Amino acid sequence: MSAPKRAARPGRVVKTRGSAAGGEGAEPSSSRRERLRDDHARLARAAARARRRAYAPYSRFPVGAAVLTTDGMIYTGCNVENASYGLSLCAERVAIHTAVAQGRRRVTALAVAGPAGATLMPCGACRQVMDEFGVQTVILASARGAPAIVSLSDLLPWPFTGISIRPRHASL
Ligand SMILES: [Zn+2]
Repeated sequence: MSAPKRAARPGRVVKTRGSAAGGEGAEPSSSRRERLRDDHARLARAAARARRRAYAPYSRFPVGAAVLTTDGMIYTGCNVENASYGLSLCAERVAIHTAVAQGRRRVTALAVAGPAGATLMPCGACRQVMDEFGVQTVILASARGAPAIVSLSDLLPWPFTGISIRPRHASL
């Protein structure tokens, strides 16, 4: 089955072929640049399209993201800023939360795309949210050359998990 050709936007659902098996800075040494498999290439393109819808009047740094769910769907997000800066949201979290709002809670891969020439690293908050919903592969799209691919376990080797907050004492 083929995906519609219309541009992705936050909340937009694009069906992909098959299903997944599965701040800017230096890339981790474990990242690799290689030809993307088909579904990841589509994910990177969806992230780049989503970037066009960024609401970034303060930073003027538009970012787009896209997530691939276990059933092969793609959901996108963009950064959404606010005059009260602390209320701003990263594109990665908008994409993940959009998937969750549509009933998809298992995400296998996430792609993020920033301005040309910038290879973006997801911030710590986004890495934590990625872990919550099962992201394994992070694709750092780049306008120059092949995207970098890194595992979330390399980006966040010691996540905070639900196990951490289970009650340990019945009396509490
Ligand atoms: Zn973030």
